[in-house]
Amino acid sequence: MTERLPLMAGNWKMNLNHLEAIAHTQKLAFALADKDYEAVEVAVLPPFTDLRSVQTLVDGDKLKIKYGAQDLSAHDSGAYTGEVSGPMLAKLKCTYVAIGHSERRQYHGENEEIVNAKVMAAFRNGLVPILCIGEPLDIRMAGTHVEYTLAQLDGGLEGVPASDAETIVVAYEPVWAIGTGEVATPEDAQEVCAAIRARLAELYDGELADKVRILYGGSMKASSAPGLMAKPDIDGGLIGGASLEAEEFVKIVRYRE
Ligand code: PEP
Repeated sequence: MTERLPLMAGNWKMNLNHLEAIAHTQKLAFALADKDYEAVEVAVLPPFTDLRSVQTLVDGDKLKIKYGAQDLSAHDSGAYTGEVSGPMLAKLKCTYVAIGHSERRQYHGENEEIVNAKVMAAFRNGLVPILCIGEPLDIRMAGTHVEYTLAQLDGGLEGVPASDAETIVVAYEPVWAIGTGEVATPEDAQEVCAAIRARLAELYDGELADKVRILYGGSMKASSAPGLMAKPDIDGGLIGGASLEAEEFVKIVRYRE
């Protein structure tokens, strides 16, 4: 089995201006020691307006922290007012870009076709997509959460070649757990993450599926991280609220302690 380096990615959502972003990233970098980065990859996903500041800090101080955006345009340039393109994010040396976050799906009407086009745009520009998938509460109650989530995975990966798919990060984020304080149990999260890996093996092959990192997202805290991370198919976290508190986020990164 491939050893997968855990990834803890902080989704700041629409919080922290560029000055606050610098202070927060400095705080994280100061609190994290070299050994933390050996055990876990740490990334932040600030708002677009913070990315240049974060890049300057990371480059200037040679920080090991990675960064990326929370979304991107499906197009590389042109008359798309208000959009930010893959080439722009690549120029800022972003590693990651979150795609299909449930808040994008819910408030911006992002469907499978749009999510898929954005996944393609990310790969076209050398960015690693963090493809967010997961079911709302009514689907969980109906017991069809696995099928629902796998359909989102299939849609997001439509036409993606294995050479790209092997680098993708998938975030399983049950919508009912995002920002609600209600965390999925490790068993519930594992059920879906294992199904995601099995579907990757069907779509591509077992070797590829074994390499892909699958994150859990949804009210993850320092107290819930160890239980979730103990599960074989959970390789990290996409952390919203708790990533805005430096101490809590660092504790999550140190979930093994
Ligand atoms: C998220 O925004 O992806 C998320 C998981 O948020 P929270 O941790 O606040 O639930």
